[in-house]
Amino acid sequence: MSGSLLVDNVGELVTNVAGTGDGSPLGLRRDAAVLIEEGRVAWVGPARYAPAAGRRIDAEGGAVLPGFVDSHAHLVFAGDRATEFAARMAGQPYTGGGIRTTVGATRAASDGTLRATVRRLVGEAMRQGTTTIEIKSGYGLTVADEARSLRIAAEVTGETTFLGAHVVPAEYAGRPDDYVGLVCGPMLAAAAPYARWVDVFCERGAFDADHTRAILTVGQAAGLGVRLHANQLGPGPGVRLGVELGAASVDHCTHLSDADVEALAGSQTVATLLPGAEFSTRSPYPDARRLLDAGVTVALATDCNPGSSYTSSMPFCVALAVREMRMTPAEAVWAATAGGARALRRDDVGVLRPGARADLMILDAPSHLHLAYRPGVPLIRQVLHNGVPQCRS
Ligand SMILES: [Zn+2]
Repeated sequence: MSGSLLVDNVGELVTNVAGTGDGSPLGLRRDAAVLIEEGRVAWVGPARYAPAAGRRIDAEGGAVLPGFVDSHAHLVFAGDRATEFAARMAGQPYTGGGIRTTVGATRAASDGTLRATVRRLVGEAMRQGTTTIEIKSGYGLTVADEARSLRIAAEVTGETTFLGAHVVPAEYAGRPDDYVGLVCGPMLAAAAPYARWVDVFCERGAFDADHTRAILTVGQAAGLGVRLHANQLGPGPGVRLGVELGAASVDHCTHLSDADVEALAGSQTVATLLPGAEFSTRSPYPDARRLLDAGVTVALATDCNPGSSYTSSMPFCVALAVREMRMTPAEAVWAATAGGARALRRDDVGVLRPGARADLMILDAPSHLHLAYRPGVPLIRQVLHNGVPQCRS
């Protein structure tokens, strides 16, 4: 009992255990308490039946939710692209070409500089409720720089993704086959020890279907799970290829055909939507309603990166999804927690039930609705990660 921690006086508890509590997908409970032991949820139930515990946190009637699961972020980089953002807001279109600017800065940076940026952004995300974060490589694009990016990412998360196929670097201009050979060979070999996933930017101007299939297939053979960037800037083969290869998630999904939606609906592949990218590039948002109504599992993530979405804020993405993508607040909160967990094929996060990791946030607000209803407001009062309080703002 001495090592146990009770979070009580919870006005509204989002468990994400469907069919419990109010019976909704969020499994909402009122007047609840959560007992934590050894970093795990040990008990969830009505506050009046709460077991005794060594320590107590009073939620003061606030809502308690599972920590956000941000399943798509690019945090290993140097420099920023604020001037590119300003130019875009002044009317220049987004083409993805600015990635090469960040590649140059990242290659030139020391390990210490990259590590400091990753840790700063992970801390920033944590203060906004994110307790699980996926981090991609993709700004090194040499064997040594991709391996280094993943080694640094692996210091802070188990959800690391090899994205050597982010863009063809300048020194391989006009020779994409040669670059794909490098990615599939020595780069994958150097990256795989630090990576859980392999990813490709499958898009016109980046990697075509044949290249994408080649890279994902050898990544799978090396023991990595598959995810990919697909159908962001225009229609293309990425989503159906991802489904065919059993990807855990296809990300962006902004330009989808009926066949794409049908393929997703009949699969275990999650559609991860990244509204920060559409916000920051002033582009049309993906049609979340169409996906949800077709029965597709939808996740929300930040796509945090210095070019097209420099936000680490999951609450901001929830608010955008509700306001701009016609998701209900409940759907958006589920997608940002349980949906992200599905996109990472995890069942120990994004949920508050006995045995789950004790990752949760306490809001300065009585319900999850306030995350979208009060956009831009720092509502997250406290975050627990593995049962350990992280910060109190
Ligand atoms: Zn991305």
